Amino acid sequence: MLTINKSEPMLQTGRRPLEGRTAIVTGSTSGIGLGIARALATSGAAVMLNGFGDPMEIERQRIELADENDVDIAYDSADMSSRDAIHLMVERAVARFGQVDIVVNNAGIQHVAPIGEFPQAKWDAILSINLTAAFHLTQATFEQMAARGYGRVINVASAHGLIASPFKSAYVAAKHGMIGLTKVVALEGAERGVTANAICPGYVWTPLVEKQIDDQAKSHNIARDAVIRDVFLKDQPTRRFATVEELGALAVFLCTDAAASITGTALPVDGGWTAH
Ligand code: NAD
Repeated sequence: MLTINKSEPMLQTGRRPLEGRTAIVTGSTSGIGLGIARALATSGAAVMLNGFGDPMEIERQRIELADENDVDIAYDSADMSSRDAIHLMVERAVARFGQVDIVVNNAGIQHVAPIGEFPQAKWDAILSINLTAAFHLTQATFEQMAARGYGRVINVASAHGLIASPFKSAYVAAKHGMIGLTKVVALEGAERGVTANAICPGYVWTPLVEKQIDDQAKSHNIARDAVIRDVFLKDQPTRRFATVEELGALAVFLCTDAAASITGTALPVDGGWTAH
């Protein structure tokens, strides 16, 4: 049977595109997650922030986002390596916002080492935070989104979800896995108004990248400047880092009704890197 998915009247004049929507963005105390949370809030969505950091700084950011955008901004400190904490975060979001319409699985960590030296604990942590957490959060929110006929699952994967680089075995495996998960969720949500897409950034200037410079310099035995030029931006044909604002704008678009038919995709935002 052909069905028309229920959707909010978003295109009324003067109304922000995500007015009335509610979102959880994992790992949004920094970098890309914070950029996406800001873009969603600017577009009218209530947002639950998540991630680690200085509690005073997080609270300052929460209040700033709420005041600047006149939306409800909450914060939950759930550790993405804990299934129970993820489910509790969803319960708190539902208690506060009434529902969860959008989940952005963004929290992620990195470790760079040759395969022979790659620590087991780092492998486990990366798989848990970068991949398994997305499964838990999607599982905890999918059915209620589908029941209402609107839902958006946005998985922040990576160009490393599409191609590989040396010394990043766990990260590349987790990000490839995330794109597989995205496709499955897209198929399961397809007739129920829930879309799932992976955003695949190339290099974006954030604390995560900054932290890799010294490790990369050691692994390649080159200087920091050379890492930026010859490792990070070598294969990014635009020769510039992508920005958190660009990623935020894409996430907002994926949440609008205009993107209702975009599902199951892995969207590179990598300055042409994966076009090679
Ligand atoms: P970042 O280090 O600036 O931010 C990571 C966020 O995740 C922080 O808020 C941190 O507190 C949170 N986090 C880490 N471990 C957590 C845990 N156990 N529980 C809850 N939160 C946790 O990194 P970023 O560059 O903004 O990366 C965000 C995402 O984008 C990651 O999934 C990363 O793999 C992906 N990505 C980044 C780039 C890039 O160039 N920066 C490129 C491709 C993909």
